[in-house]
Amino acid sequence: MKNSLNPHLNQNNNENLNWDLIQEDFKIKFGKDVFESWLKKMLLDEVNSDSLIITVPTRFIRDWITSRYLDSVIEVIKNHKKNINRIEFKIRSSVNHTTKKDQPTSNEDNNIIDANLAFIKDNFIQYNRIDPNKNFDNFIIGSSNTLAYEASKKICDNTSNYNPLYLYSGVGMGKTHLLNAIGHKLMSSKKVMFISAERFMYHFVKSIKSNEMIKFKDYFRNTDILLIDDIQFMNGKEALQEEFFHTFTALIEKGSQIVLTADRPPSKLSRIQERIKSRFSGGLVVDIQNPDKTLRLEIIKNKLSELSLLNNINVLISEEIQNFISSEIKSSVRELVGALNRIVSFSRIYNRVPNLSETRIILKDLLNIYENIVTIDNIQTIVCKYFKISKNEMLSARRSRYLVRPRQTAIYLSKMLTSKSLPEIGRCFSNRDHTTVIHSVKTIEKLRKEDSELNIKIDTLKNRILFNKEDEI
Ligand code: ADP
Ligand code: MG
Repeated sequence: MKNSLNPHLNQNNNENLNWDLIQEDFKIKFGKDVFESWLKKMLLDEVNSDSLIITVPTRFIRDWITSRYLDSVIEVIKNHKKNINRIEFKIRSSVNHTTKKDQPTSNEDNNIIDANLAFIKDNFIQYNRIDPNKNFDNFIIGSSNTLAYEASKKICDNTSNYNPLYLYSGVGMGKTHLLNAIGHKLMSSKKVMFISAERFMYHFVKSIKSNEMIKFKDYFRNTDILLIDDIQFMNGKEALQEEFFHTFTALIEKGSQIVLTADRPPSKLSRIQERIKSRFSGGLVVDIQNPDKTLRLEIIKNKLSELSLLNNINVLISEEIQNFISSEIKSSVRELVGALNRIVSFSRIYNRVPNLSETRIILKDLLNIYENIVTIDNIQTIVCKYFKISKNEMLSARRSRYLVRPRQTAIYLSKMLTSKSLPEIGRCFSNRDHTTVIHSVKTIEKLRKEDSELNIKIDTLKNRILFNKEDEI
């Protein structure tokens, strides 16, 4: 009954379950690669009322299948026999070669194991991609990140005497960039492992479940440089943390360098054991602060030329726009880089750089705080004050020359600096028609080209409105 060597025999024994058909379903559900590498090796041995006995050639294959595919395998089988909810695995070698029990594996098994080990490795390596575009050369330094930069560089020069290096900051401040830079610099001379904490944990848990812990540890303990990103996502049961603690300690004892990043200092990590936190703090802990205006401007200049080069287009935005972006996008370098990417895309599409109002539109969602500040009411107040007229006069129907220009200017600035539509702007100017709004915008645009004095006045006004500054352009 249990002669699993002959699959046909199995089918005869289990006439109500067609294993060939199930295997076809596996192929469809998991794809040819997974099927050929793993699932094909499962042979049906016995069918019981609610469970199956399946044989596989090696323990390794059993572990691999149970850790990754078991739930889905059962699901497929349920389509053929719905009360099956458990699978018992047997190793074919031990079933069939009882006399060879002492020999751990046959040659064929060894080959399979080798192939599968390579598979595991590839699997880890998939997450070990280092982005060569994030290196030390294009990491711009300012007062907020110099320490993190220097500490990371020291690791590459082998002159650091801290382990681990723990970098933390809010999102988008360059932590992952620095990890990449370290990995990139060292990957040719050292065994570097770069992985997010989430992935690390995922493999960790998997390997515990499938009894592959030793292999997992060996794999990680083999690395010279372990770079773990976003450690705040590491959480887990006590036993898991226990294991992690030992792996971590073993690596440090062996002299491997560890670099960790997180969005908070070690002491603020939740759900992590105290002793692990204290291990994390045992080396050097450095934070990256928000970039200041100088660094933001520097990043704008550098990134723009880098992006220009990459996109084969020369994007030169005015000082005014640089100033605008660096004043408005303060929350993170990532947002800043995102904003510059949009400027470059715009330039590629329209074959010219955007002007200020276009920049405002392109970056609208990044400027949401700012949206509340620039209102048409605000523009009217500032323009009235500047031209020394009252708001009533501006909004009146009177067409005296000393009122017309300021009114047109306010309308023009409303169009340029807010995202309001023409009719909406008209409504804010005592229900004027949208054609009046167009006429005002066109008049001022024309005058800006001819009348340099007015041009300067408008720039000054714009600065007052945008930056609350008096004279600077
Ligand atoms: P974090 O990991 O801290 O969330 P990232 O390293 O992913 O941030 O950085 C976000 C983006 O900003 C990336 O494109 C990165 O290259 C860029 N970046 C961050 N800091 C700098 C810097 N100092 N110089 C150049 N680019 C930077
Ligand atoms: Mg990151």
